[in-house]
Amino acid sequence: MSTQPQKFVPQPEGLPLEFHQIAARTGTLHLQQCSGCGAFRHPPRVYCASCFSPKYEFVPSAHRGSLYSLTISHRSYDPGWAEEVPYAAIAVELDEGPRVLGVFRGSPSGLELGDRVQIEVEAQNEDFVLVWVDREV
Ligand SMILES: [Zn+2]
Repeated sequence: MSTQPQKFVPQPEGLPLEFHQIAARTGTLHLQQCSGCGAFRHPPRVYCASCFSPKYEFVPSAHRGSLYSLTISHRSYDPGWAEEVPYAAIAVELDEGPRVLGVFRGSPSGLELGDRVQIEVEAQNEDFVLVWVDREV
């Protein structure tokens, strides 16, 4: 049994739970897409902001985008992340349009807004995935 502190794992509910469960089951981030007009909704929500339709499906993302924003943590309030500092929490603007939050894998030095990145989901359990961000290969 590991003595390393474990990272906090949120327990999503409702549509966010569906979003995480699909990603955990498939290993691919799926975006909620409106069945009425095709607009993406993220974070997942009941009604489309463009046409107000409640209908949707989850479609797989290509996992690629650009670095929209970041913040670098030099201290961690969660003991489970203490070994990772400094780390960068990143908003990725996916090529499909929506922005998702993730953590950059490795040293964040040299990162610049607009850098091309790719994401990977890592299931923490069947109800939650962590999004990792790397430079695009
Ligand atoms: Zn719509």
